[in-house]
Amino acid sequence: STKPRIVVVGAGYAGMMTTKRLTQQLQPQEADIVLVNKHNYHYQTTWLHEVAAGTIDPNRARIMISDVIDTKRVQMVYDTVTELQPQNERVLLENGELSYDYLVVSLGFETATFGIPGIAENAWKIENIESSKAIYHHIESQFIKYASGETEDDTALNILIGGSGFTGIEFLAEVVEKVPELCSKYDIHQSKVRIINVEAAPSILPGFDEELIEYAEKNLSDRGVEFRIGTKIQECTPDSFIVGDDNEEIKAGTVVWTGGVQANPVVGHSGFELTKGKVNARDDLRAPNYDNVFMIGDTSWVWDHENDKPFPVNAQSAIQEADTCAANLQALLQGKETNNFVFDNKGTVASLGKGDAIGTILDDYKLFGKKARLMKNVIDNRYLFLVGGPKLILKKGKVRFF
Ligand code: FAD
Repeated sequence: STKPRIVVVGAGYAGMMTTKRLTQQLQPQEADIVLVNKHNYHYQTTWLHEVAAGTIDPNRARIMISDVIDTKRVQMVYDTVTELQPQNERVLLENGELSYDYLVVSLGFETATFGIPGIAENAWKIENIESSKAIYHHIESQFIKYASGETEDDTALNILIGGSGFTGIEFLAEVVEKVPELCSKYDIHQSKVRIINVEAAPSILPGFDEELIEYAEKNLSDRGVEFRIGTKIQECTPDSFIVGDDNEEIKAGTVVWTGGVQANPVVGHSGFELTKGKVNARDDLRAPNYDNVFMIGDTSWVWDHENDKPFPVNAQSAIQEADTCAANLQALLQGKETNNFVFDNKGTVASLGKGDAIGTILDDYKLFGKKARLMKNVIDNRYLFLVGGPKLILKKGKVRFF
């Protein structure tokens, strides 16, 4: 057809919401919309720590794309993007290629290793449904080995987690909840299992409010987590971290790295310039140098001019960027001016397991415990509502109604 073609690559929070908004805002005759994703499902990246600890069924964190996107309106391409060629207006896929008039890059993140030797090869990483499922599978297999006498090494049951940012802390809390269950299932005394967190920064949850940090640290320590804060990981082996100036070795059957994220490697390989692992997007979310390419979600930084630093990069901002991105695509199609993105911080809540959480809302109102947990459920359900309406909340929501 002669209609302009919009290609969205990656159906995470940013890509799904952009596509959803485009179908709501554009008339079918205005543009063809194509959504490319590795799988025929979308997953809740913010629930992956639960998949990795085995506290949630992986299918609960997964949504069939065709259940929430009108596939008569949007052409779905289930394939893996291998390269973007913005100079030729093409997207190369494992099994073909696509041309576009407008491109939205929403390919998400990969784990950043900060050059620590051995992390890339040896540590487990919470990156997608498959890698997260594999972590839980591995943890349970360690319990099975130990229970069957296949190994007598006590450190086989240890779970070692590098990084105590948002993901690290949320994962720790799930592990703490799961371990007693595994111990009783395999008849292993809980004292045999150590849960150890190593963080180079002087405190856990860098950037969080002091009081919330204290609450989280006490909560997790009381439930058995050993914190090694201010401790630098020198190297990662398949069953240990080598840490500190004296190269102490901390052994564990399961070694997980949660230390940081950077843009999906496809972005850098395609020639986009990276600053601290991400592309500096323009204020209207377009990529530098290309007027028909948007770079959103975990692939980019967007500058917050008022505070002279980048806006936070998380699910909340990815969803908000999708609104601006869709509106700006519509503006370009209609020959109008684009608008700049402004992040509206509705607060941040980190889960500490099923019944507990910490966070801030309304700029600096602090929440702890059950109230914070309730807010976390509200945030999770709000997204499900945006992407799939009330039906999806009933199907996948975090609150049981019946
Ligand atoms: P993603 O959600 O990562 O989506 C990327 C999509 O692209 C995926 O569907 C993937 O399959 C697809 N894809 C990737 N590569 C290819 C390829 N080559 N070809 C085709 N498709 C591809 N943020 C919050 O605001 N609140 C939280 O509580 C929170 N908790 C988190 C907990 C965990 C465990 C993690 C890991 C992150 C958390 N975050 C949270 C951060 C948040 O999840 C990310 O910022 C958010 O997922 C970014 O959205 P995105 O759409 O850019 O990328």
